[in-house]
Amino acid sequence: MKTKVSILPTNMHMNGPGHPESPKRLSTLEALFHKLAREGRIQLSDTAGDTPEDGLDCVFRIYQETHSREYITSLLFREVPTGTVVRLDPDTGFSEGSRKAIIACAKAVETLLQHRKTAGGIHFLAQRPPGHHALRDRSMGFCLVNHAGALVRNILQMDLDARLAVLDFDVHHGNGTEATLRDLNRCLFISTHQYPFYPGTGSGKDNRIDSDGGGILDLPLPEGTDDDDYRHVLREKILPRLEAFRPTDMILSAGFDGHRDDPLGGWLLTEEIFMEIGQSLPPLGCRFIASVLEGGYNSRALSRSVEAYLTGIG
Ligand SMILES: [Zn+2]
Repeated sequence: MKTKVSILPTNMHMNGPGHPESPKRLSTLEALFHKLAREGRIQLSDTAGDTPEDGLDCVFRIYQETHSREYITSLLFREVPTGTVVRLDPDTGFSEGSRKAIIACAKAVETLLQHRKTAGGIHFLAQRPPGHHALRDRSMGFCLVNHAGALVRNILQMDLDARLAVLDFDVHHGNGTEATLRDLNRCLFISTHQYPFYPGTGSGKDNRIDSDGGGILDLPLPEGTDDDDYRHVLREKILPRLEAFRPTDMILSAGFDGHRDDPLGGWLLTEEIFMEIGQSLPPLGCRFIASVLEGGYNSRALSRSVEAYLTGIG
């Protein structure tokens, strides 16, 4: 089954000059996706290039269970002078186009939910900004709204038989996603991340196994983690837990900043392991697998890693 890839407009949201979370990340991926589509290896989704001018209702609808109404309102109605960037926290900027970027993300998540309702399948959403650090009431670590959390909450609500597994393989702990999913049934959250490291959470002390097999599995791994180390954790810890839970759907927080060439992370992963992560997903038998882009700040390494991951999953 060919992966359906959606790429959102690259340069609406700005963090300011010299910031690692830059439009170049997506423009490099855009070139990759067009190449892969020409080669017949992926299918570009219809939402590509969509730049909705409206859609405030869509943002509230999609993110209402994940973020407070006050927080969403504060983002959507924030006044930012043209050409400037407001800092929401030391790492996270907000520009005039950020509001449009949030609307585009909400529409893309809504499209994914429609796919889930009809045909299912394998999907990859390439969007900026990333989402897995965004908390209920505040932005954090380059993230404004939490796409993975919103997908899970919406799917669990629309299908009472759904069992959702989230795997967050970004080098940073998915603290925002874990916080929004912490109290849900029929949901298993797994995160591998460098530890100790930003954002400081994910030590493993919150791990639990629910009676339905869900719960939380934080797998902190030290600086210097390489493909062999990660492969061991994938085979010995992650896949057995997923197989025991028997998810109907999988949401991947697909962060590639664990790559050895990434300027932010301290891991030594290569494209090989991202391919293996991708290969391990279809055999789990889920009807819907959706990956959303998180980190990855060396655009060449990001492009090679995403290509390997899509090759593995497709
Ligand atoms: Zn990251």
